[in-house]
Amino acid sequence: MPADNASELLKYYEVYETIGSGGFAKVKLGRHILTGEKVAIKIMEKKDLGDDLPRVKTEIEAMKNLSHQNVCRLYHVIETSSKIYMVLEYCPGGELFDYIVAKDRLSEEETRVFFRQIVAALAYVHSQGYAHRDLKPENLLIDEDHNLKLIDFGLCAKPKGGLGYELMTCCGSPAYAAPELIQGKSYIGSEADVWSMGVLLFALLCGYLPFDDDNCMVLYRKITRGHYDNPRWLSPGSILLLNQMMQVDPKRRLTVRQLLDHSWVMNGYSSPVEWHSTRPLGHIDEDCITEMAVSLKRSKQSTIKLVSEWKYDQTTATYLLLLAKKQSGRPVRLRRETPAPDTSCSPLKEIQLKKSLDFNEDEDDEDGVPRGSIVFPADCYDDDTAWVPLTPKNTQNTHTSCTKPPCSYSEKRRGEVGHSPLIEQGKPRPRNTEKRERTRENKENLALPSRDGNGFALPAPVTPASSRKTGSIRTAQTTPINNNVINTDSQKESSRRRAVEQQQSGQQGGLEILAFSPERRSRSLDMAGCQVDSGQKRKAGKMFGSLERGLDKVITMLTPSKRRALRDGPRRIKAQYNVTLTNQTNADQVLDQILRVLPEKNVDYVQKGYTLKCRTQSDFGKVTMQFELEVCLLQKPEVVGIRRQRLKGDAWVYKHLVENILSTSSI
Ligand code: ADP
Repeated sequence: MPADNASELLKYYEVYETIGSGGFAKVKLGRHILTGEKVAIKIMEKKDLGDDLPRVKTEIEAMKNLSHQNVCRLYHVIETSSKIYMVLEYCPGGELFDYIVAKDRLSEEETRVFFRQIVAALAYVHSQGYAHRDLKPENLLIDEDHNLKLIDFGLCAKPKGGLGYELMTCCGSPAYAAPELIQGKSYIGSEADVWSMGVLLFALLCGYLPFDDDNCMVLYRKITRGHYDNPRWLSPGSILLLNQMMQVDPKRRLTVRQLLDHSWVMNGYSSPVEWHSTRPLGHIDEDCITEMAVSLKRSKQSTIKLVSEWKYDQTTATYLLLLAKKQSGRPVRLRRETPAPDTSCSPLKEIQLKKSLDFNEDEDDEDGVPRGSIVFPADCYDDDTAWVPLTPKNTQNTHTSCTKPPCSYSEKRRGEVGHSPLIEQGKPRPRNTEKRERTRENKENLALPSRDGNGFALPAPVTPASSRKTGSIRTAQTTPINNNVINTDSQKESSRRRAVEQQQSGQQGGLEILAFSPERRSRSLDMAGCQVDSGQKRKAGKMFGSLERGLDKVITMLTPSKRRALRDGPRRIKAQYNVTLTNQTNADQVLDQILRVLPEKNVDYVQKGYTLKCRTQSDFGKVTMQFELEVCLLQKPEVVGIRRQRLKGDAWVYKHLVENILSTSSI
């Protein structure tokens, strides 16, 4: 197993900013060096996984067995003594959840386009013997062609005897969980998935959840009764379909097979949902093999043999990424100038890359805010970073007049209490049993074939030697003299790579722009008038010692031009789906208004020019949510906009909190 550093990853990938984080993982944008393709790199710290290690194994094994146009593809798995990296198909359009938030709710026509893809994905996943068990809009990502990709198979199950066999473990997100599941009954995975699809369909058409409550017991009661209100804008056809999917009795629920040609699903289409994979596992593409054979200086025959091993190593990644290039109509070409896959990464190069790509996971974790910014690359951080803590003074104005969000997800969100509250026999379980439960649930997957037959090795104990090693890298990063040297080199390296990248892809924008600019979506979010309370009342006067310690580690890598850019004014960007338009033209005024409101809403923040990196914490000091708000200038219309980006935390709580902040800021 490779040693405890990032060199194994950096041999094959360039690593950029953090694009998301979940309960277990941080996800960064990356680029596969040999093909030049963008990828998403899911990074998991073994020591943090603990009992959830089997969940990661389940996810990896499932994703190796799934290859479908609406399922996020796994390309490469790298395990070191302390980390697990999953290299995945990159979906630049973000989560379906954020898309719903941006549009408030979707039209029936647009919902149908997405829903057909969800049906296709689930029909395929079920046909492979898996139940997903955690369907929700946060687990559906939008790719560059505006197609949906299903992610997060950590809770999936593959019953030994087939999907018709009953499962016992209650898992998933409470608001999407089927009644039989929350009652602790045995259930059929595919039937439970259909219920969740019904909740998801409701969320798409309505912009809120059908079953929701602050109190978990009340929520469970609502779900087991199966009563929800149909808003007036739903068509009779939509009402009927939702009713057929959210049937409390699973045997009366529609099946995925029935959904394929359901009249609502077929409306405006001439054919049922085509759910078969257009990229079946095991198919070997001649063109990709030829290109790889030339590059590797091997015979075609031996290249086929190598690829057919499906080890989810550099060979698998190269083949699948070449195939992705071919399928999107781009030339099936590998970069010739890159080092051979087995070339080792020199320690200096590794430090340079780690710095330029802001790849120090430990630092991220300690201060709770991902260094890799989507707006500014990590190396844009100024050295005057300062979290603005809550003080008795700035918390005393907390509004009590606002209404509560529909449900206190801070109780339920996965980052805080594990994936979700799990209950058995209809009773909520104490928090400390939840982790154990997830482990038990993964036992249902023991029948999963493991290609390599190996489990993951436990992280190596921290030895004085390894500690010293980490320490020395950190010292190098925080020493100004070293910084300058490394910064210069890494910047050269970065700009060289970006030049190559832009040349190759013909794109105009930089990587950091691409990361949050799904250009196809251009609807602004108008949250004015919303009055919602964050529902998070925290004690004032928290201790922020660890944060301040974290700040010592911030690396100053600003070039003069970047510093100027930060000081001189807000960025000019195009209106995008994740940008709220204001009717104001003075960015400083808008920034001040938001800054005034954040403490009232119990939101801590770090200000970087016109970007506010925000977060909330639980009473116990655990970070419950992270997001960015950036005040920017729009071109058409020429007004100030606020770009929003959720990085961590429950999606619906985030929605209500940001709505609340922006409406209270009167912008
Ligand atoms: P976890 O298993 O820890 O919950 P997820 O797999 O849900 O982590 O990933 C966390 C977040 O990272 C997602 O909600 C999404 O915003 C982002 N993300 C995950 N995979 C991708 C991807 N393939 N492309 C783009 N963003 C991704």
